[in-house]
Amino acid sequence: MDTVNSIKFTMPSLSVNESAARAVVSSFIIQCDPTVEELSDIRTAVSEAVTNAVVHAYRGTVGNIELTVKLLKDREIYIKVRDRGCGIADVEKAMEPLFTTAPEEERSGLGFSVMSSFMDKLKVNSAAGKGTVVTMRKRLAAHGD
Ligand code: ATP
Ligand code: MG
Repeated sequence: MDTVNSIKFTMPSLSVNESAARAVVSSFIIQCDPTVEELSDIRTAVSEAVTNAVVHAYRGTVGNIELTVKLLKDREIYIKVRDRGCGIADVEKAMEPLFTTAPEEERSGLGFSVMSSFMDKLKVNSAAGKGTVVTMRKRLAAHGD
């Protein structure tokens, strides 16, 4: 991986940190001068991943969420969201559109679908009891100048 710049930070899984994570990611990638749409897509994808760690991984408890943002060569943005929560037993099933384990909370089961449609690549590594790592990549359009 050809990394030009990167940041990594850790936050407790409090829902207030969903907006903090969006803000940190935005302020980091602004150096690439993304379009409004690119910025909005990345913010939404990060939000979905962090929300999942808050509401599913550490359900009823608080644990750490690690967020890594990298700027790779050729204007590619790399994002990793890691939790050490309950993990996902069947990742393939969890990634199906409309699949949710929390329908009573009015979750729609679309978080992973949103991440995959707003980003170029989405990878989910998880093991029950061990936690989950979500990595996403998006290449920004060539810069005008
Ligand atoms: P929505 O995102 O639409 O509010 P959702 O969170 O249930 O609903 P997804 O984000 O697509 O939908 O996630 C699907 C399912 O995968 C979740 O219901 C949950 O069971 C599981 N899941 C997702 N992320 C994690 C995680 N970090 N740790 C444990 N389970 C997870
Ligand atoms: Mg979700």
